[in-house]
Amino acid sequence: MEMELRRIREAAFRELELAQEVGALNEIRVRVLGKKGDLTAVLRGMGAMDATERPRIGQLVNDLRQEFEAALNERMALLKDAALTKRLEAERIDVTLPGRILERGRRHPLTMALDRIKAVFLQMGFDIEEGPEVESDYYNFEALNLPPDHPARDMQDSFYITEQFLLRTHTSPVQVRTMQAKPPNSPIRMIAPGKVYRRDYDATHSPMFQQVEGLVVGPDIRFSDLKGTLELFCQGIFGDSVKVRFRPSYFPFTEPSAEVDISCVICKGSGCRVCKGTGWLEILGSGMVHPRVLEMSNYDPSQVSGFAFGMGVERIAMLAFGIDDMRLFYENDVRFLRRF
Ligand SMILES: [Zn+2]
Repeated sequence: MEMELRRIREAAFRELELAQEVGALNEIRVRVLGKKGDLTAVLRGMGAMDATERPRIGQLVNDLRQEFEAALNERMALLKDAALTKRLEAERIDVTLPGRILERGRRHPLTMALDRIKAVFLQMGFDIEEGPEVESDYYNFEALNLPPDHPARDMQDSFYITEQFLLRTHTSPVQVRTMQAKPPNSPIRMIAPGKVYRRDYDATHSPMFQQVEGLVVGPDIRFSDLKGTLELFCQGIFGDSVKVRFRPSYFPFTEPSAEVDISCVICKGSGCRVCKGTGWLEILGSGMVHPRVLEMSNYDPSQVSGFAFGMGVERIAMLAFGIDDMRLFYENDVRFLRRF
């Protein structure tokens, strides 16, 4: 039996010496101390031994096990250390390598323009309202005084999803929804920013674009309120020196209606390519809310009146930043976006 233990000892220690990896050490541990290991086999065989021999052999097995474990742990530490050193050498940092540039993101020019528009109206006490981009024909057209056969529907070539639902062509439905959500004749001062969709695509039209529409309703709201509010807005965006003019126009949901122009921000009014020599730039549409639109949303035109307006965020951004092609906003070309 002592011979057998000596053989196990020699074999185990030789293997420890030869092992070059942590994984190999673990295999040796199992081979010697595991359930089916050599030492375990000796212990199992002790039952058949002479009773007087058992304590001595048991002691020898115990000693061997402790000796083996100590040697194994030592070898293990050595190999781990060597592995770490090897890895550190392989991963040595080259301090002369140029660094990687971390690009910092920035706001999209349209977001910047929209934030400026919102800030000006928030200063004037407006609320910001939002609504769905897939809208019913009722909210998009009918409740805005555009019945199914109305010719002005052709002005807004629409994307229909079904007979009754379409991608909204303007954010005016949000005005209707806001009025209908309030008790009749409640005062309103709101803007509705958001994406809208029309079948247009060229340098100044995109099938998806962003609008900000506004609505003010209350007792005794007059055209002079509209004029003062929109003048303040234009000055807030384009500077105090900008001139504003109102031209008669037509919209089905307002009466009277007016287009709002500002003096050209490029040539200051003397005439250039951007303003096509006129010295003026069209910036938004506006008007006094049509009595029928108020009625349809349970507002009494004999008690309250209001004005509404709408503008394209792209148009404002193009003028504010001097951009001549609307499609640039949606092409995600970083060379363009980096300029802002
Ligand atoms: Zn000009």
